[in-house]
Amino acid sequence: MLPERHALFGFLFCLLLYFFNFPVKALILIFIANIAIDIDHYIIYGINKKSWNFLKAYRFFVNLVKLKKPGKFYLCIFHTIEFLLAFFILAILLKSNYLFLIFIGFSFHTFVDFVDMLRIRKRFKENILVFFSCIARVIKRKNERKKKKAKAFKRR
Ligand SMILES: [Zn+2]
Repeated sequence: MLPERHALFGFLFCLLLYFFNFPVKALILIFIANIAIDIDHYIIYGINKKSWNFLKAYRFFVNLVKLKKPGKFYLCIFHTIEFLLAFFILAILLKSNYLFLIFIGFSFHTFVDFVDMLRIRKRFKENILVFFSCIARVIKRKNERKKKKAKAFKRR
């Protein structure tokens, strides 16, 4: 989903929390985390393409959304259940309110992305869980390798 949309949804979410007496400072942190989580796209782009041009990376992902192929080639590590769980545990262990607020922002963003993927899931052959779980992604890779091996064996 495009960052502008995340900003809009994040704003509405924070507005809702405001009525539950969340302090404005906390809401600002949640809002920033809700946007900043997408930095993993940039990191993954940089590693895969060996280019750290932010604008190019931005255009690349906007294009994927326009081509209706979001998440197609990249596992965005911050958008995974495992990362969020680890982050949550860290926030508890460190008893950090800041980390907990960031966790809320990250989780809300990922939830919105997930709902968006559910909406368009028919475009994907695979279960969309592979976009939101490292474990699901590893299992998928393993199965693909098995299939390839089986095909190669048949050809012999
Ligand atoms: Zn996202």
